[in-house]
Amino acid sequence: MIIKDQCIFALGDNKENAVCVKQGEIIEFVTKDCFNNQITSEEYVLDKLDWDHINPATGPVYVEGAQAGDVLKVEILDIEMEDMGTMCALPENGVLGNIVTESTIKKIPVQDGYAIFNEFKLPLNPMIGVIGVAPKGDAIPCGTPGRHGGNMDNTKIAKGSTLYLPVFHDGAYFGCGDVHACMGDGEIMVSGVEIPAKVNVRLSVIKGVTLDNPRLEDKDYIYTIASGENIEEAIYDATKAMCELLQKHLGYSLNEAGMLMSACGNLEICQVVDPERTVRMAIPRTICDKVL
Ligand code: CA
Ligand code: ZN
Repeated sequence: MIIKDQCIFALGDNKENAVCVKQGEIIEFVTKDCFNNQITSEEYVLDKLDWDHINPATGPVYVEGAQAGDVLKVEILDIEMEDMGTMCALPENGVLGNIVTESTIKKIPVQDGYAIFNEFKLPLNPMIGVIGVAPKGDAIPCGTPGRHGGNMDNTKIAKGSTLYLPVFHDGAYFGCGDVHACMGDGEIMVSGVEIPAKVNVRLSVIKGVTLDNPRLEDKDYIYTIASGENIEEAIYDATKAMCELLQKHLGYSLNEAGMLMSACGNLEICQVVDPERTVRMAIPRTICDKVL
């Protein structure tokens, strides 16, 4: 199934907009960039940008059989990008926003496996910035991350990885968008190489496990992910979730699990520029192979 021309600017349980999908079905989401494809050239006048319609997610889809309290398993099968990305530097935005005095738009060609930034050929790392389900309570703008996923801007949410999201509403109301051709951890100036794309995922539902926050696995690592109003809060939640995971699967005490994490776990930054900050705690699969 292909989901196209259907996007939302907040993740919520709006049944009228939702497309029904079956578990196990491969779904292609045609996604717009985080600027809602509005920035067509480097000469574009940013004052014209409709800031109320940015960070679109394609969807939502209502996953048959998903019930509140379940876990939605999202296998990222493929990300196929267009050939031109967009970046911005903006006053008041990002880590250095207080010293940025003017706006700059940069178009970044994506060709032959690289993002071309001036004289540099940057290796691609296609990743999904916005991916999530309807949160508990009111809808949350797609630009904000949280327990439901959203704008996590996590470089590890890429082809071959599997994301696990808490389900808060029957049907889950899954959506995704905001692909980046590449991005450095932190996304310090508020954009990666933003690019329209086609994202292929397979959605399935796991019963009997409940999550507080997203989790992720790839070839080499398992990750707990958390967002918070400040980075310390996010760090605490991601670390605590991994500690509990290690206690559960290794039968370790809190102190043993904590020391193991301290010895070989990596606390990594996803992004520090969105309305909430996001981090992940990574543990090698050789230590623990189970993410739930
Ligand atoms: Ca983003
Ligand atoms: Zn983005």
